[in-house]
Amino acid sequence: LSSQDTDSSIRQTDTDAALARFSAVQKGYLQDPYIKPFVPRSHLQPPRPPLINIGTFVRATAIDDLVFQWLQNSTNQGTRCQIVSLGAGSDTRFWRIATGAHKDALAAYVELDFPEITTKKAMAIRKSKELSAVLGSPADVAVAHGGTGLTSPTYHLIAADLRLPPADTLARLLAAEGSPILSPTLPTLLLFECVLVYMSPAASSAVLQWFRDYFAPARSAVLGSIVYEMFRLQDSFGRVMVENLKARQVSLPGAAPYPDAASLPGRFLNLGFTAAHALTLKEIRKSYIPPAELERISHLELVDELEELDLVLEHYAITWGLFVPPSVAGSAAAD
Ligand code: SAM
Repeated sequence: LSSQDTDSSIRQTDTDAALARFSAVQKGYLQDPYIKPFVPRSHLQPPRPPLINIGTFVRATAIDDLVFQWLQNSTNQGTRCQIVSLGAGSDTRFWRIATGAHKDALAAYVELDFPEITTKKAMAIRKSKELSAVLGSPADVAVAHGGTGLTSPTYHLIAADLRLPPADTLARLLAAEGSPILSPTLPTLLLFECVLVYMSPAASSAVLQWFRDYFAPARSAVLGSIVYEMFRLQDSFGRVMVENLKARQVSLPGAAPYPDAASLPGRFLNLGFTAAHALTLKEIRKSYIPPAELERISHLELVDELEELDLVLEHYAITWGLFVPPSVAGSAAAD
């Protein structure tokens, strides 16, 4: 297989993610008025099985909560912040934030993905009045990079292959001298929702390192990062997951270093991040989703594979890390 074929299989996972989200919305697990324009009519399928819907619900609820806390913190500290979603696919998070309680907290929201995906997304946004109205007045929104992207006062959609050296991609696209899209002095949150697993560990570390170095040590902003990923793929259930994806020409080089939950924070700690934590979706469902929500979703559809649910959920985790540059840590200590 050529690398083009395997890349197109990787891109295909975005359709799966969008359909899973759409299914969870249709079944009442999640609310998202913005997902429909990203699901082409030709791709519409019957809703996903209950296990997938519950997994999508747990993951989305947990990540929404972490992002909400990040935005809330920025608001409390009287500063605006930036969010960068890497491998954003058809994600609708920007629209949900920009029309929600923390809309004024966003100084910039950047989405990166392969050009085929960003071109498709740019077209879907321009076609939808609802989506484009959130970006600003038509005069404020411009097609960028030959139709592969969009720029607006807050939202930026940019084509990039995250496996390429960041000095040639991220530096050029996000940190151009004189007019950087990302300010090096604002708190910044990186979102990697189901993307690093498709890249080599070296390429993932290079991306994280580039952001870490952009904000420190001379700079002064806190960097947060959330990774959602499958892991523990060496056990018997994990091997079945790997085989299923292999049958679709998708390989998972990024999962190799993470055989268990204890290894996950190492992704950040090995790069000098200040703190990092990980929780599996199984733990999140049991201990962090409000009981009232669990009660509500238990009435949505009949689930007769509850044991299998735990098995699936313990192979997915959310890991988050915080990097506080020495200058900020130092001044906090002095205060
Ligand atoms: N983050 C979105 C979500 O959670 O709904 C989409 C997840 S989808 C499973 C994975 C996305 O990562 C796809 O849109 C794919 O094109 C993108 N991706 C994978 N490898 C990439 C790379 N090397 N550079 C840029 N994007 C990549």
